[in-house]
Amino acid sequence: MITQNVDDLHERAGSARVCHLHGRLMETKCFADCRGAPTLIAPEAFVNGAQPPPTCPYCGSWLRPNVVWFGEMLALNDLIIAQDAAEECDVMLVVGTSGLVFPAANLPNTAAQNGAAVIEINPEATDISRIANVSLRGPSGTLLPMLLEWVRA
Ligand SMILES: [Zn+2]
Repeated sequence: MITQNVDDLHERAGSARVCHLHGRLMETKCFADCRGAPTLIAPEAFVNGAQPPPTCPYCGSWLRPNVVWFGEMLALNDLIIAQDAAEECDVMLVVGTSGLVFPAANLPNTAAQNGAAVIEINPEATDISRIANVSLRGPSGTLLPMLLEWVRA
């Protein structure tokens, strides 16, 4: 499971191995990038405007959500995991993405170039539609259960 989502809905749905390409909202990291391990913290800690953000237990700098903001690089480790998965998979389901945000948008190309079948699920055509072996048009909440039922039959 490779996701651009920063929430923990995949984990709550039971996915055991999730690669969060754009980070995890439920974790924090240090503004000073002191490389202390990410820590778990309630997101509410950041929304109380009357208080300063929580501080890093390692160096005392402010903490921020452990997500990738616009203009920032993805975490190299997560990118390597995603690239390896794209190179090794037999089938890649590309679900509910515009296919416009790189480098994530290149993962279906990597899978296709390495012989995987690419199945796109999206209400509208995207750049991924050109390389997809199959494009299913509609909301993922409807199509994924149908696909699962078909695979199990
Ligand atoms: Zn720190």
